[in-house]
Amino acid sequence: DNTINQIAAGEVIERPAAVVKELVENAIDAGANAITVEIKEGGISFIRITDNGSGIEEEDMPLVFLRHSTSKIRTAEDLLRVTSLGFRGEALSSIAAISQVELVTKTSESFTGLRYLIAGGEEKSLEYIGCPNGTTFIIRNLFYNTPARKKFLKSPVTEAGYIGDLMERLAVSHPDISFKFINNGQIKLHTAGNNNLKDIIYNVYGRDITANLLLTESSNEQISIEGYIAKPLVSRGNRNYENYYINGRYVKSSLISKAIEEAYRPFIMLHRYPFTSLHIRIKSELIDVNVHPAKLEIRFKNGEELYQLLYHTIKSTLEGKEM
Ligand code: ADP
Ligand code: MG
Repeated sequence: DNTINQIAAGEVIERPAAVVKELVENAIDAGANAITVEIKEGGISFIRITDNGSGIEEEDMPLVFLRHSTSKIRTAEDLLRVTSLGFRGEALSSIAAISQVELVTKTSESFTGLRYLIAGGEEKSLEYIGCPNGTTFIIRNLFYNTPARKKFLKSPVTEAGYIGDLMERLAVSHPDISFKFINNGQIKLHTAGNNNLKDIIYNVYGRDITANLLLTESSNEQISIEGYIAKPLVSRGNRNYENYYINGRYVKSSLISKAIEEAYRPFIMLHRYPFTSLHIRIKSELIDVNVHPAKLEIRFKNGEELYQLLYHTIKSTLEGKEM
């Protein structure tokens, strides 16, 4: 079964950034409002993620590392209305199969915390320990037991870059959570978690973008759109600054990109792709996030409606009109 976990792990966990993504999403699902990510050597030798969320109860302790032992899906119906970021119950088992994991956790109801060690999918120890409420995961030596996979990693600097980009997207997608990212002992990002999207955009993208932002918002019964778009003059040559979040999840969608780019098209732009940071909320039964193992792609049941609302909202904002 451990072999199966190692193979399956390949789907979800291809690099250190994937570990960070899964563990931060778990922390968000656990209700944390402060999350610290610390890495060394691009996350290959060391990743530490600390949250102040719910903690894990003692009775769940070894269970959370078993495949498909998610606490989030209990019935087939639940699958249709996933609101948490994680729901497959695969991440922890996959990560534990290919690294050395140390977990320290405490719920607010319990008197003492727990420390659990698991490496290569094998439990090493479980003991009581004093610690604050919340959860800390330390992931050491990723792919130490799968050298063939380790070879596909890029340099530590490149891997750290992927994690840095991910941390920026996470910070922008959750303005209500304070994120801290530390790379080789240096603080690279620190957001306040005070729900001020403009502050975070300034923090992440700098003064040029922030000075050219337009607030945009609209909604109907099923969809709401809220966020900032930049004036056409600060457009880019690639889609890196064209960001949008569905129900707090960073995603890629050709439908959404097309709606944005079509709305910008009549305006004079230096480059083709605009800066956007849009928070889109859609009733969870109208989306299907279960398309891709990394959950980056998304499908819509009301795609045309979403396209039209987005297109007209952005176009009106660019024209200086109210919706
Ligand atoms: P999923 O997120 O799909 O449920 P995971 O393998 O990522 O599956 O996590 C398994 C379970 O472990 C979660 O459902 C949750 O109950 C628990 N868990 C993981 N990380 C945390 C955390 N930081 N705080 C509290 N509970 C956690
Ligand atoms: Mg998860």
